This record gives sequence, structure tokens and C-alpha cells, in this order.
Amino acid sequence: MTVYHTWSSVNCLALLTLITTATLMATAQRPLTVFCGCHTTVETTGESGAMTMDNPADPASPKRRAIILTDQARAIHREALLIDGHNDLPWELRTKDGPGFRHIDLRRPQKQFHTDIQRLKQGNVGAQFWSAYVPVSFARKGLAVKATLEQIDVIHELARRYPDVFAMAYSTADIRRIHQQGKIACLIGIEGGHAIDNSLELLRCYYRLGVRYMTLTHTESLDWADSCSDVPKAQGLSAFGAQVIREMNRLGMLVDLSHVSDATMKAALRVSKAPVIFSHSSARAVADHPRNVPDDVLRLLRDNGGIVMVNFYSGFIVPEGARATRRMFETLRELQRKYPDDEQRVREAYQQWAKQNDYPAGDVHTIVDHIDHIVRVAGIDHVGLGSDFDGVSKLPYQMHDVSCYPYLTQALLERGYSREQIHKILGGNLLRVFGAAEAVAARWPEGSTP
Ligand SMILES: [Zn+2]
Repeated sequence: MTVYHTWSSVNCLALLTLITTATLMATAQRPLTVFCGCHTTVETTGESGAMTMDNPADPASPKRRAIILTDQARAIHREALLIDGHNDLPWELRTKDGPGFRHIDLRRPQKQFHTDIQRLKQGNVGAQFWSAYVPVSFARKGLAVKATLEQIDVIHELARRYPDVFAMAYSTADIRRIHQQGKIACLIGIEGGHAIDNSLELLRCYYRLGVRYMTLTHTESLDWADSCSDVPKAQGLSAFGAQVIREMNRLGMLVDLSHVSDATMKAALRVSKAPVIFSHSSARAVADHPRNVPDDVLRLLRDNGGIVMVNFYSGFIVPEGARATRRMFETLRELQRKYPDDEQRVREAYQQWAKQNDYPAGDVHTIVDHIDHIVRVAGIDHVGLGSDFDGVSKLPYQMHDVSCYPYLTQALLERGYSREQIHKILGGNLLRVFGAAEAVAARWPEGSTP
């Protein structure tokens, strides 16, 4: 399948959001972007059919057998409160349907997405952090705050339009209550500190609108925090960056270290009084990519009490994929430099390069390899799930959409994880971390300034 090579909108790792001023002004909901990593929706041509369960065995991994669900795994999965750390459906809705998604009905099957209501239910998703992602290029145009607010609105609209399915959650108590009501708890995460435009006031406003985590950077370094996919500007965290962390602690907003540089990870772990999260990152020792968490940081995270929510993107978790996507970013940068005003030319050259640099998709076992490693280094209490569904272009076999989480439960069971341990991974650990962040906020001295 060639989904991962198609041109599309990009989110997560996309370093290159090539937005022309004219296009942005004309159609702010639909920037021209270059796909390069973790968000994509693909201008789909049906290729995702190659990732169906009719074709469960990854030809690149013939020794890995397909997962077959047992009644035991189904029962364990059904009893879990599954919390996923990162889903990019809101951006997909914006790119496919404009701000406010007036036409797409998520009750109907939405094959162009990884996510719709029916499949969320099949996957037994109990709570979802929806990403209020906005490309960092919007910040250069002065549009990041407007677009972030609009994306927050999309998430609230999800809950308003389908009140029998979703409900907004702002706390661990909300998540538990909504889950008991048989609904899916909707939480908001902001992906990239460019959304606050260097303003603690805006950060507080976002919290009041329901934002419960902020990823410090996306694909570009800010004055106050560094991205793993850009040159450093802050050498970790600037004095303002430390203020941002303290204010997030005071509010009870989770500090998300996906996408940031190693130096920023370590600086944030030093400053934060609350456990931190990696909302959608995996283990670097398994697949060597800067978006993944190195072992020394995993050990710091254990001491901090935080959690790595494992990303499913093949380009991060399959070792060959990690190698390919590392080169992909360099290639895209070079092409952008070479053809600064010709997106079509960049696109064609990139597609040609991508064809020559294919890599295997991996399978459910690949995801569990990352979970196993994090458990070995940091412990069973420090791992969770952050799929990146609807933000990535290539996914492991049998893990092609939000209906597929039960396969993960089966694979964990087969690796020897107990029911209690599986429940921690699926959501219990995130609840604990979020609860600890709430407790830090509750204890914060009244009237203090960051
Ligand atoms: Zn991302």
C-alpha cells in the first residue's frame, strides 16, 4: 500500500508545513502541507484497504503470526477503561470538511479516517485525548491562536452533536463518571507551544476551555523549548519555558514531552512538580528515532512518576521505518530549500524518494516490543497508549484503526501480562498520572505566580 507516500495534510512529525500565504488566507482550513510523518490523512485512494484484517500478516515479518482474539482477551478488554493519549481526528475533520465539520456524520462509517463512532465502540475506547493540533506554520502567519480555538471548538462540537456517545471530561473524576455512563470521555490536548504565542494568559485561557495537556513543541523549536526535529533555540528550556511548566503544574494541565528534544525532556523533568506524559511516543532503544524516548529519560520518567503513551506509527516503531523517516525529514528539508516556491515539484520529488525508501509496516507485536521495553526500563506503571490515529499514514498490520485495540490486549496477554497489568497499560496508568497532576495543582499555594 502506498498511503504513506501520498501527499496529504500533516501533523505530528511533519516538519514541513509548506503553507503559502495565498492558500492560507484563501482556505485557512486547508493548508498546503507536506506529509512527513505522524499525521496524515491521506488523500485517500483506498490504499488503506491493504491494512485490513483480511491481510493480517506483515510480509516483511513472516515469523510474526497474526493475532487471534480469544474470549479471555475480549473479556479483559471489555472490562478496561481504555484511554488513548493522541488522536488527530479534529484536524482531519478540518481538512476534509472545514472548521466546524458541518457535513461529516461520524455515526456513519468514515473510511477516509481511522476513527468513527462505530469503530470507537468496537475498540472499547473509554476516553480520548483529541488533539487540537495546528501547524506551527500558522504561528508565522499570526493564525495559530485562532485556529487552535477553532480546533478546541471542534472537540466540544463532537460532544455536543453526539451527546449519547461522547461527553467532555476535564478531570479524572469526569473520565470515571462518563465511562460508567457508557460514553466516551473527550479530553483536549494542544500539540505545540506555538499555540500560546508566548502568553501565560493564553495558556490559562486554554485551560479554562478544557485543555488538559499541552505538548511543549511540535516540529519546530520555540524560543522557550526545543523540538527534536529542529535546531535548538532554548538549549532545553528558557526561563520562560520553566515558567510555562510551573504554570501548567499550578493549573493541573499535563506537561506533554512528545516531539521535544532530549535536552528539553530532561529540563522539563527537572522543573515539573507533577508527573509528565509523552502523549504519543515510543522507545528509542527499539526504534532509533528522535521522536522516541531514550532509556536515560525513561529512568528519569520512572522517578518523576510519568508515562510514555506508545505511538503506533510504523515510521516510528519499526526499526527500518525509524531509519527511513529520519532520512525523510532531511530529504523534505532539502527539497523545500531546493524548490522554495514550487510545492508541486517538492511533492513529486518527495514521492519519488519515498518510493525508493519503503519500509515494513510492522504488526501488533511491534507495538508490544515498545511496551515491553518501557516496562523493563521504567516499570509497568509508566506505559500507556497514544495511537496517533488519524495523524499517521502507515500503521502496523491488525492495528489499522480505532477498532483494533483488542488485538493489543490479546498480544499483551500472550506475552504474559496479567489482567491488572493490561488494565494499567490501557488506561489505568494515565488515570494515575492525571490524578497526581490534579493533586499537585490542588496543593499549589494560593495566589502564587509562576
Ligand atoms: Zn505528534
